[in-house]
Amino acid sequence: MEEIILILLGLIFGSFLNVVIYRLPQGKSVIKPRSFCPSCNKLIKFYDNIPVVSYFLLGGKCRHCKAEIPLRYPLIEAFTAFSFWLAYFYFGHDPLYTAFTILFVFLLIPLAIIDLTHMILPDELTLGGAVIFLGYSFFHPHITVANAFIAGFGSALIFAGLYFFYLKVRKIEGLGFGDVKMMLFLGAFLGLHNLLVAILLASFSGLLVGLFFIIFKGKNLQLKLPFGTFLALGSYVSVFYGMAIYRLVRSLFI
Ligand SMILES: [Zn+2]
Repeated sequence: MEEIILILLGLIFGSFLNVVIYRLPQGKSVIKPRSFCPSCNKLIKFYDNIPVVSYFLLGGKCRHCKAEIPLRYPLIEAFTAFSFWLAYFYFGHDPLYTAFTILFVFLLIPLAIIDLTHMILPDELTLGGAVIFLGYSFFHPHITVANAFIAGFGSALIFAGLYFFYLKVRKIEGLGFGDVKMMLFLGAFLGLHNLLVAILLASFSGLLVGLFFIIFKGKNLQLKLPFGTFLALGSYVSVFYGMAIYRLVRSLFI
């Protein structure tokens, strides 16, 4: 029963994430006005706004102007619902930790998509998340408060160092300052070990994607990748499998 409720909640919150992803980069309110079609500006009726279901009932088109609704919308709704269920599946025995895991991945999803599409990481999500999860570290069952603060502020400091190094020495923005703020948020919840895994996964997947674009798409080394997207992906995996990956990597080297 709890699982069904969480999946339904995930669908509704996923629908809200679509609004966040669309409006936050434009500096618009995510609460008002109600959802409307960006093509014909008509308000979307509640029965046309049912997560996932409406997309298929409408054949992926606006009821009025027939403008195409991006496939991203039902996908994000379904993925958010899946994430809510996954948190419950792994951590359901600890309701508070489950709730904060859900909140953590709930923030990762728009960060990943907005960085991918706009190359920005909004402060509302990174710094907002940092405040929430530094506060939560006092109740975190797996890491100490010191661990959360050292992981958050320590990694942000290292990333800030890298940011200024790239800027001054190599005269390019190797990573954005949004990544620095994002580290505070990630470290506060993941702690040192899982954060290390998240950074490893992000760097490795970023490297693979970068190589792909250089080899197959003719890009050069100046290619800019949305590192926040990779950090979000790495963190998502790390929340659920961080310790297992950490032990595996360690066993390979020690
Ligand atoms: Zn329309």
